[in-house]
Amino acid sequence: DLKKRESIKEMIDDTVSLLHSQAKLKNIELIVKEPITESVYCDKSQIKQVLINLVKNAIEAMEQPGEITLGVLSDSNQIEIMVTDEGPGIPQEMIQKLGEPFFTTKKNGTGLGIMISKQILEEHHGELKITQNEYKGSTFKLVFPREGL
Ligand code: ADP
Ligand code: MG
Repeated sequence: DLKKRESIKEMIDDTVSLLHSQAKLKNIELIVKEPITESVYCDKSQIKQVLINLVKNAIEAMEQPGEITLGVLSDSNQIEIMVTDEGPGIPQEMIQKLGEPFFTTKKNGTGLGIMISKQILEEHHGELKITQNEYKGSTFKLVFPREGL
């Protein structure tokens, strides 16, 4: 088990520096909502893998220039890392299907990214929450329980 206390800011910054040029090709800006001061007890490379999956999906989903925002929201019970995009969003009936192995709408998709991301969050006693934004796009949340942080 490779879990340690890890800085969320560092994991987000690593993800952004890995993917910002891919985003830029589509005129998409990756925005980090600062300040981010929290840390979580986690396997850093696994959580980075989740963030990379989600930001890649967001880049692939967006057909117009726009923004992908990464941020953190926390209260006394949990810490959430959020990835919000301005893509087409996900219809309610499709949200259920996400995470089934091999469910993809892409010509060359594997349909494994979200399934693996869900499993990783479960291994951290958390969950991956998927919601449709009110205005446009969708938000993916990595939810971690406070206990054991
Ligand atoms: P893949 O990216 O290989 O298709 P994923 O498990 O990462 O597999 O995603 C499964 C499907 O979920 C995608 O094919 C796409 O239809 C949908 N999806 C994932 N992320 C988003 C998003 N941010 N906006 C819209 N649809 C999405
Ligand atoms: Mg994917």
